[in-house]
Amino acid sequence: MKTEATIQCGNFIGGKWEQQGADGIRRVNPAHFSDLVATAPDSSAEDARRAIQAAADAFPRWRRTIPPQRGKIVLRAAQLLESRLEEIAQLLTREEGKIVSEARAEVQRAVDIMEYAAGMGRRLGGQTLPTEAPNVFCFTTRQPIGPVAAISPWNFPVAIPCWKLAPALVCGNSVVCKPSPLTPATAARVVEIFEEAGLPPGVLNLVHGGPAVGSELVNNPLIRGISFTGSTPVGRAIHSAAAQRMAKVQLEMGGKNPQIILRDADLDSAVASLLTAAFGSTGQRCSATSRAIVERKVAQEVVERLVEGTKAIRLGPGDRPEVTMGPLVDESRLRDVKGFVERASAERTKVVIGGCEPKGLGDGYYYEPTIVGDVRPEHEIAREEVFGPVLSFIEVNDIEEALTVANAVDYGLCASIFTKDISRAFAFVDKIEAGMIHVNRPGLGGFSHMPFGGFKHSSYGAREVGDDTINFYTDLKSVHIQET
Ligand code: NAD
Repeated sequence: MKTEATIQCGNFIGGKWEQQGADGIRRVNPAHFSDLVATAPDSSAEDARRAIQAAADAFPRWRRTIPPQRGKIVLRAAQLLESRLEEIAQLLTREEGKIVSEARAEVQRAVDIMEYAAGMGRRLGGQTLPTEAPNVFCFTTRQPIGPVAAISPWNFPVAIPCWKLAPALVCGNSVVCKPSPLTPATAARVVEIFEEAGLPPGVLNLVHGGPAVGSELVNNPLIRGISFTGSTPVGRAIHSAAAQRMAKVQLEMGGKNPQIILRDADLDSAVASLLTAAFGSTGQRCSATSRAIVERKVAQEVVERLVEGTKAIRLGPGDRPEVTMGPLVDESRLRDVKGFVERASAERTKVVIGGCEPKGLGDGYYYEPTIVGDVRPEHEIAREEVFGPVLSFIEVNDIEEALTVANAVDYGLCASIFTKDISRAFAFVDKIEAGMIHVNRPGLGGFSHMPFGGFKHSSYGAREVGDDTINFYTDLKSVHIQET
């Protein structure tokens, strides 16, 4: 690989970049350990407080900027991001590890979501409602909530910050964002683009760091809302801290997503979708399918086809064109994934394919795409989020059992079913406990204008993406005007 320069990321506070060159955070390419991709400050609570104050100072003026104008700035940011799509996709692969085609798709998704959110500048309406007393005019109107925090994970380090920042800003809020310490460089590029699009100083701030920064954002009384995406345990802790001061929260967390395959399914399409949904992005997606729930009658055939498809996956560095699955993000993720498969084996499940680190690939946190068979719903591997390329295979007798098994977990993010029977498909849509549902399609997230989020321990608060997110980023006033 050619040598590339290390990116020195700084914080962006009150319209100024600072602390560039600080290297408390050092991010190494997960496929080339000699490549130091980025350094960034491991910021203190005091740095976070300054960013919060900058957002609070900028808020009154930004709130008064007319919404279509705010939308125009976000649209310009979308256009700038699209014009730099290839460069940012390459950086995303270098920093996070996903293959370049997935990185391009992620950046394009961010662009599409930003374009949609930009139009909210002309859709931030309320309702006109009937009166219940003579000569009173009634309507609702929306206002921004104030400075908000956007706390994001490493697995979609371009799309997730963009789908928080775009609606937050169009709705009139100022923002402090805190990316994952594993992806400081992509986060910095996103903020640079919003800056270049013309945001006034202080409206958008960036603070790199870990839990010290996150905790200040969650507990500081100037922050009126917290939009968090990450693991369920951290989301739960944020929820309880925010509840102490009644701050608004929007939490997007883990998943344990099922794909049901019934006996009448088109198996070509069901298996192709399963391979994409389970092993795409190296399984490091909240929306990844991690449970195949298959009617016994077709189970053997599905397993055989899955094994064939899995054998065709090529592991390696994400910047190589022949590679179809990149490394895991870091050593601790690799350790976690290995631990899940080891414990599953101890529970007498059977590794059908994979279940180990590949040999001979050199640097990189690689783990073979893995299918675990003989899994029962009570096994840990059937209940907990693995967040890696591991698919549990569960056989069932019929759709009723499939639904019972699918719903028997704490999570409820995405789900899909493969069947040609329309009434079974509708029964699935009705009974499945999940927020994003697909029929005869890979069970991933949704289109760029569809609400994103789930049930149970997967999500809390207003959905992200789509118009529902307006309910998080604005407060509603009910107005009654008496004619005099
Ligand atoms: P994580 O929970 O470890 O970290 C997420 C963010 O929270 C990071 O920026 C981290 O620094 C910050 N953080 C950690 N502790 C904090 C604290 N005490 N207070 C405030 N902030 C804190 O998650 P991760 O490992 O970065 O991401 C993987 C997880 O994200 C998986 O569980 C995945 O399912 C989930 N995820 C969910 C969605 C969704 O939309 N539902 C999307 C992508 C990822």
